[in-house]
Amino acid sequence: MSPSIPSPFTRRISERRKELEALQAYPEEKLASVIEEVGFSCMLCGKCCTRDFNGHVLLLDDDVARMLSRDPECLEPPPVYDLCDQHGTFYVSGYTIRTGQDMEGTCKFLEHGRCRVYADRPWVCRVYPYMLHREPDERGEVDWRQISGLDQHGEYHSQIPPETARDIARDVKAFETAVLCQEIAFLEYIGEYFARHSLRHVRKRFDDRMREHLAGADITVKVFFQGSLETWLVGGHYSERRPGTNGQGSSGNR
Ligand code: SF4
Repeated sequence: MSPSIPSPFTRRISERRKELEALQAYPEEKLASVIEEVGFSCMLCGKCCTRDFNGHVLLLDDDVARMLSRDPECLEPPPVYDLCDQHGTFYVSGYTIRTGQDMEGTCKFLEHGRCRVYADRPWVCRVYPYMLHREPDERGEVDWRQISGLDQHGEYHSQIPPETARDIARDVKAFETAVLCQEIAFLEYIGEYFARHSLRHVRKRFDDRMREHLAGADITVKVFFQGSLETWLVGGHYSERRPGTNGQGSSGNR
């Protein structure tokens, strides 16, 4: 019999399930009308392809094989970890795309202001800048956000045909659903894994190890991918998948 999932995980799982229910109940037509009203059009500034502006590119498991087929060295663990156990090992859900060495942290697929994997780009890049999740505003009130980086890039009030807006809304909802499902699968897996290995998330250990890491220490990061964990060693300027772990991770300089 598998050990029961500890309560911090069950709490988070139930919160994510509630988010999923709220997302399912959000009317697609409402999102489509926001998309039409905002009328975003991309000006190819390339800002959205940098960590400076947008954080890391969140890859769904479905994106990974496509990205690897374009560049076998393109993956790394996202730089923001979810958990750290009492031994100082970090855990994170899913992969991201490596960045170049520039200050902005530009995605390695952006070349001369253009995405060189445009036809195969990840889901998040396809639906961007549209989104559909709830966040607290500056007053702490939680509400839906539908557009990322509003008024900080691109142009607005372009004509978007209603059928195009509906297609985008459908894709955004499908993407956000897949993100939440991936997160729930991670929490279920990791909750059971922590129980089985007598591990616990220790906030102080997390903070101490991150401080050491920022000062140059290597850390071990376990990435949840396709239902299991892949182990990576992450240093200041490199990250590499440890041999013997599952999947097809890569290694290389950041
Ligand atoms: S994959 Fe392409 S669209 Fe997505 S962040 Fe990288 S360069 Fe930009």
